[in-house]
Amino acid sequence: MTEDTRPKSLYQYDPEGLQARIVELGGQKFHAKVLRKQVLEKGLLDAHGLTSLPAALREALPTKLPLLAGQENDRVVSKDGTIKFLTEFERGLEGRVAIETVHMPSLRKNSERGATICVSTQAGCPVGCTFCASGLGGLIRNLKAHEIVEQFVRARALGPIARCVVMGIGEPLLNFAAVQEALATVREGLDIGARKITVSSVGFPDRLRKAADENPRFDLAISLHTPFQEQRDALVPAMAGVPIEDVLAAGDYWFEKTGREVTYEYVLLGEDTDTPEHAQALAECLQGRRATINLIPYNPSRDLPYQRPRTEAVEGFQRYLQDAGLVAPIRWSRGLQESAACGQLRALSQ
Ligand code: SAH
Ligand code: SF4
Repeated sequence: MTEDTRPKSLYQYDPEGLQARIVELGGQKFHAKVLRKQVLEKGLLDAHGLTSLPAALREALPTKLPLLAGQENDRVVSKDGTIKFLTEFERGLEGRVAIETVHMPSLRKNSERGATICVSTQAGCPVGCTFCASGLGGLIRNLKAHEIVEQFVRARALGPIARCVVMGIGEPLLNFAAVQEALATVREGLDIGARKITVSSVGFPDRLRKAADENPRFDLAISLHTPFQEQRDALVPAMAGVPIEDVLAAGDYWFEKTGREVTYEYVLLGEDTDTPEHAQALAECLQGRRATINLIPYNPSRDLPYQRPRTEAVEGFQRYLQDAGLVAPIRWSRGLQESAACGQLRALSQ
């Protein structure tokens, strides 16, 4: 266990606690709001840029109220400008954990849109999908809301953010209170609309329904991966025994309740889930729904026993779904191929 003697950082305080702390440090209550907002808005990693604060308060911040809790300890930049970085957090009984975040600039020339970022919600993942490197070691711990917020601040420091996908490491519905709290904080400072945030989940039905009832201000993606029950039970172990129909029914409930269409995600595992039988059964499964299904060609990682699908198989799969009236874009992975340890970095920003 690491003893953490550092002062609490900005987003670890609740709004009232922060006001009190700021007053202790010689500022005024309203500076709390300014601070929470500006750090996100500008992507500030240190207090120098906080020119609207009184100098005395600004100078007290680094030692008494640091803006961030973690430290960036690794960064990989790919040719297309995609940046993956790891932030290390020390707090917690488990000692250090390294959290992965990805910043993908828009590929459009002269685009005024910002990047799409992909944030993590847990250190490790308890779901254990057999094709996903994140699930290999199980769950280390849930991230705290401030650790999720910090990923946004650090990503914002790399450039403007247009969209966010909560599709990094972890299963957001298993750490939902922290996810909701973090997104609420992020919206205070980032001009990011509800339709610009997508949360991806394997779709625990009860949790999905509950989330739908809580006025979620984001879009939902459900990771489906196969239309066959037995195969899903094997591929997504934590969902074993949960009928696919129940997952789809929870997705329908989400749509009724929120008016937001659900996107389904389907990882195409070469010669495994990319067959014509799969395409046919999937189309039947989703019949009658106005659904988009993102086809994600498997991105090979480490020693997992799966292969990248052949391009013809991917295109044939897509054609079948389109002919059946479904919207089925292919989401090829972007950048960082060889370093995509989590195997989930892919283009949602084209
Ligand atoms: N736990 C959530 C969100 C994080 S995973 C979920 O599973 O939905 C985000 C997406 O990345 C999932 O759809 C997952 O199936 C996909 N993914 C995981 N490993 C992958 C790999 N090696 N290649 C392609 N997609 C992968
Ligand atoms: Fe967890 Fe998602 Fe990876 Fe499955 S795909 S192990 S749910 S992060």
